[in-house]
Amino acid sequence: METKREIKNKKKFYITTAIAYANAAPHIGHALEYIQADAIARYHRKKEDVWFLTGTDEHGDKINRVALSSEKTAKVFVDEIAKIFKALKKDLNLSYDDFIRTTDKKKHWPGVYAIWNKLLKRGDIYLKNYQGLYCVGCEKFLTEKDLNEEGNCPIHKKKPELVEEQNYFFRLSRYEGKIRELIESGKMDVKPAATRSEILSFLNQGLEDISFSRSKKTVPWGIPVKDSDQTIYVWGDALVNYISAIGYGRDEETFKRLWPAEVHLIGKDIARFHAVIWPAMLLSAGLKTPKKIFTHGYITVDGEKMSKSIGNVISAFEPAKKYGIDPLRYYVLREIPSDGDGDFSYDRLTERYERDLARGLGNFVSRTLNLINGEKIDVSKAPSKEVRDEVKRMRARVEKGFDEFRLHEALSAVFDFIKAGDIYVNDKQPWKNKSVKISRDLLAYLEHIGEYIEPFMPETSKKIKSALKYKEDFCTPKKIDPLFPLQK
Ligand SMILES: [Zn+2]
Repeated sequence: METKREIKNKKKFYITTAIAYANAAPHIGHALEYIQADAIARYHRKKEDVWFLTGTDEHGDKINRVALSSEKTAKVFVDEIAKIFKALKKDLNLSYDDFIRTTDKKKHWPGVYAIWNKLLKRGDIYLKNYQGLYCVGCEKFLTEKDLNEEGNCPIHKKKPELVEEQNYFFRLSRYEGKIRELIESGKMDVKPAATRSEILSFLNQGLEDISFSRSKKTVPWGIPVKDSDQTIYVWGDALVNYISAIGYGRDEETFKRLWPAEVHLIGKDIARFHAVIWPAMLLSAGLKTPKKIFTHGYITVDGEKMSKSIGNVISAFEPAKKYGIDPLRYYVLREIPSDGDGDFSYDRLTERYERDLARGLGNFVSRTLNLINGEKIDVSKAPSKEVRDEVKRMRARVEKGFDEFRLHEALSAVFDFIKAGDIYVNDKQPWKNKSVKISRDLLAYLEHIGEYIEPFMPETSKKIKSALKYKEDFCTPKKIDPLFPLQK
């Protein structure tokens, strides 16, 4: 079983990303979300039993259309896209434990049907006529916003027809008060504050029931509602991945152990689905709601919105191929505030690489290793108070950064620690006054950098740790190749 692991005595920590819509290959925005989630997962793995889930959302009209236009069946198309997304595990060095695909009939569909039936039993799913503007050319319902100034379909330049079809609806309105209470009490902690207040003001406008299915005619590519001519709409399908993947509807034991999620990490554009619709579904099914919802912002490229027509879309693979995985991870975690919008530019990446990584971290590590290379350092004794205080300061800031979803601040704390190490070396001038005490302090700096950098830059951490050879109470450091060589 993919989702079964040894039950350890540690506290569990279940984190998810959004599942990516499988209509195109991943771009730098996807990379941002995966790297953020990976850093959080790695950080918590040090003390908790982490389960980290990601995956792809593979149903719906849009995918069907893109597939048809590339003369593929939808299934062949999503198989290809899912494969590309899965390749990011290696190419971004992600540590996720499981990858869920919504077309997976064995793993995902049982959960979808299980929760549908719960909602139905609860009386929260009911049939109602749905009225919408239907474009025959597009073969889909358009909203007022989709129409051009003349009120026509912008593609077909024709007035859409007012069509009525019978759909299943979900009684979202019933859960308005309960969701507000969950958010206001912090039982479902929505961060950052801007997203939290957006959700609360959305709730204050009042919730209406939502359409929960589509006719098979309009959306044929999806999970069918049993004994009906309907397809389950995205809410009842994609959102359910967070519980279906861990066994809801097929492996109650694993599900009970892992649910509720400690963190759903998502983009702020889908905050309402996750902080309103999803918890309402869970409440209706008698399940717990997620503990935290973290939303990240948008990423621009050289100050501009990414778009196919401008031709500035950066693939999720490209920067890591050019600069290395850890430099990319460093950039997105440091330069882009986790809880806000940010920009990607190769110029900035080059700057960060040279200044922070090559001349900062890389230089400190090789400088220190040069000073203590080959020494046999007794590690049964603690480093000096001065160094221990620096460690304490860093630890507190790192903890706070991860807790509040301000990963850029956690990472800054690690780099301030490196700076403190540099100041220490300049102060003590160990090339003049060597002492066992100073060597032990320098080693403590390296050990803690190796440890604290791991969630952000796992490969770099591994390299630093490889320089520190332990035997019983002693460590004999040895030199390693430059971590971040400078290109000419
Ligand atoms: Zn149209």
